[in-house]
Amino acid sequence: MTEHAGKNFPRPTQESQPYWDGCRNGELLLQRCSGCGEHQFYPRMMCCHCNSEALAWVRASGHGTVASYTVVRRPVSQAYAADTPYIVALIALAEGPTMMSNVIGCDAADISIGMPVEVTFEQWSEQMTVPKFRPRGA
Ligand SMILES: [Zn+2]
Repeated sequence: MTEHAGKNFPRPTQESQPYWDGCRNGELLLQRCSGCGEHQFYPRMMCCHCNSEALAWVRASGHGTVASYTVVRRPVSQAYAADTPYIVALIALAEGPTMMSNVIGCDAADISIGMPVEVTFEQWSEQMTVPKFRPRGA
C-alpha cells in the first residue's frame, strides 16, 4: 500500500458501492442495460441511453485505449507532489464508456492517444482500491 494521506478519496454512494466493491476485489465492473444492451459509466440509477432501470453489473474486460491525456507536472497539493509528473487520461473502454483515470507504468514522454491500456488496481486503504491503467502487455 503506498502513501495516500491528504489525497482526495472517492466517496462511494448507494449507486456506486458495487463498483467500488468490484475494485476492491480486483474487478472493473460496469453497468449494462438489459433493455438496450449498452454499458455505462459512471454508475447511475437509469440507463443513460434509453432510461431503462433494468441495469446489471457486469465485469468489464479492463481493456481500453487512451482517448486523451494530460501530464501533470505541478501538483494540486503537497499530497500529490511525490507523484509528479503523472498522467491523467480519458480511457475509452472496450465496452464503450469513457473513464477518467491515471496511466501508470508509462513515462510521460511515451504516452500517446490511441495507446492500448489495461486496468490495474491500487489499494489506497482497507476500504478503498482505485482503478488505474497501464500500457497493455507491459
Ligand atoms: Zn438502455
